[in-house]
Amino acid sequence: MIQSYKCPGCSASLQYKEGTDVLHCPYCGRTVSIDEAARKAKEDTDREDEERRDTEASDPDGDGVQQFHCESCGGELVTDRFTAATICPFCGSPSIIKSRLSGNRKPQVLIPFGISKEEAKGIFRKWTKSGFLTPRAFSSVSTLDSIKGIYVPYWLFSFHSTASLVASATRVRTEIRGKYEYTYTDHFRLSRETENDYRRIPADASEEMPDDIMERLEPFDYTKLTSFELPYLSGFLAECSNFDPEALQPRVEERASKAIYGETMSTMNGYSSVTVTQSRIDHQKSAQEYAMFPLWLLQYRYRGKNWQLFLNGETGRKIGNLPVDKIKAAILFLLSSAAATGIAGLVWHMFI
Ligand SMILES: [Zn+2]
Ligand SMILES: [Zn+2]
Repeated sequence: MIQSYKCPGCSASLQYKEGTDVLHCPYCGRTVSIDEAARKAKEDTDREDEERRDTEASDPDGDGVQQFHCESCGGELVTDRFTAATICPFCGSPSIIKSRLSGNRKPQVLIPFGISKEEAKGIFRKWTKSGFLTPRAFSSVSTLDSIKGIYVPYWLFSFHSTASLVASATRVRTEIRGKYEYTYTDHFRLSRETENDYRRIPADASEEMPDDIMERLEPFDYTKLTSFELPYLSGFLAECSNFDPEALQPRVEERASKAIYGETMSTMNGYSSVTVTQSRIDHQKSAQEYAMFPLWLLQYRYRGKNWQLFLNGETGRKIGNLPVDKIKAAILFLLSSAAATGIAGLVWHMFI
């Protein structure tokens, strides 16, 4: 079932206002607090449950593609099985697919968007213009207007980790006595036990989002973490988790292993060489949370290739490569070779 939030003043669709805890109406400017909207939505849900309306969308082909109807205009919303929030292509109203975000599918925590669409457009504009060789269309108004605000599903893992390392180390010193140089090598056997708590290591649970890029969008500011409420999604796209947490855990354990290994190694300073001979690392999972984090995405098709620029929707950290305009690059090449020829000419003249 679709959830949307209506303006108490003019009945238009309310949207989450970035960096605040309210929904606002883009038409008449009225605001409603997240708490109030969430409470109202819960009342609606209870009533619907009572009425036992069987309007759950059908999935006749079983391929996860489901059709819903926009609550504002009745238009057909076609979604894949991971869509959790979308925007009606006909009237622009936000629609949240409640059934995919409730019960045991409800995220526990969320970081709300802190950066508004206008701010994100400004950052993308500056960024795409900073590349001297970036095709102009990349920073065009229409491209910037098409940026999408997406809540990406994450699983956050907390571990109590322990590492036990044994290493053989050497310390080499030289002494000069008379006309001889003496080299002394001392050998050590080092043994280190480290333990640490790692809180909320994130792993994105979206198949479509590239894992390496999602990791480079970190860190997320956990002081902004709040308990999940549906109204935060209003006006944005959102995906629900594509994976069971068990499938992601090995990836996160690897990150924790690297971290605790590095910490343990850093306690073995001051030697000429250190060779680890035994190592044992264990992780005990202390918590696991389903989360949603905000992302602004600019997608652009250039010369048959899809280019994507990513922006952390809370911290503004940006990741992605700018394409190179071949014509601009050719001009730059001609200019620089002309300059090089000029310099060569100058040098040539100095010598004759
Ligand atoms: Zn209004
Ligand atoms: Zn609509």
